[in-house]
Amino acid sequence: MPDHDIVVVGAGIIGVACALQLARQGRQVVVLDRQEPGMGASYGNAGHLATEQVFPIADLSILKRLPRMLLDPMGPLRLDWRYLPRALPWFLRLLMNLRPASYQRTVAGLRTLNEGSLGAWQRLLHSIGRADLLREEGSLLVFERAQSRPPWRPCNNACNSSRCPWRSGPLRPYARLHRS
Ligand SMILES: Cc1cc2nc3c(=O)[nH]c(=O)nc-3n(C[C@H](O)[C@H](O)[C@H](O)COP(=O)(O)OP(=O)(O)OC[C@H]3O[C@@H](n4cnc5c(N)ncnc54)[C@H](O)[C@@H]3O)c2cc1C
Repeated sequence: MPDHDIVVVGAGIIGVACALQLARQGRQVVVLDRQEPGMGASYGNAGHLATEQVFPIADLSILKRLPRMLLDPMGPLRLDWRYLPRALPWFLRLLMNLRPASYQRTVAGLRTLNEGSLGAWQRLLHSIGRADLLREEGSLLVFERAQSRPPWRPCNNACNSSRCPWRSGPLRPYARLHRS
């Protein structure tokens, strides 16, 4: 493709946002997709800017639930045991990341990324004249069973805890949670 100096594969939100940014920096960009633009995960998601989701799915509690998940044919986790030798290095890294210090580092990394995301969305939509597409209405966390409730409680942003993932973050009060 001689007319272009950058090829972006995938016309979902990530590819399109990268392509737009590169084009604005003066690069000649082409975006390739095997289907119509925006028909992958970016089409069918819930449309919630999940800035509060800074907790990795892999925390220590998953170890307790793992055997049951693996034995349940309708469970959310399925493993082809023939694949285990190849997957082992990945699982070992996952295990190491369950340690409290690694877990906290991951939370801090996700938090840093997520803190900038709402502003990035606002700038992007404003730049294409579609700021109306973003509505800031907070979010509501609901649980079917009391025992499903995660160990977080609402944070009023007055905690001043260095471990509070949302201290001075851009979240609105009703979207803030705090580990109890
Ligand atoms: C059910 C569901 C609900 C979700 N809800 C939320 C939510 O509420 N909030 C949130 O923040 N996130 C949510 N997500 C996650 C979010 O949708 C994704 O993180 C995001 O859309 C990923 O964007 P993407 O551009 O990386 O991927 P995609 O939008 O999937 O784009 C990837 C594109 O690459 C193309 N492609 C892949 N391989 C090739 C190839 N070899 N050649 C050519 N083209 C290729 C695909 O066709 C596709 O169009 C949800 C995801 C799902 C599935």
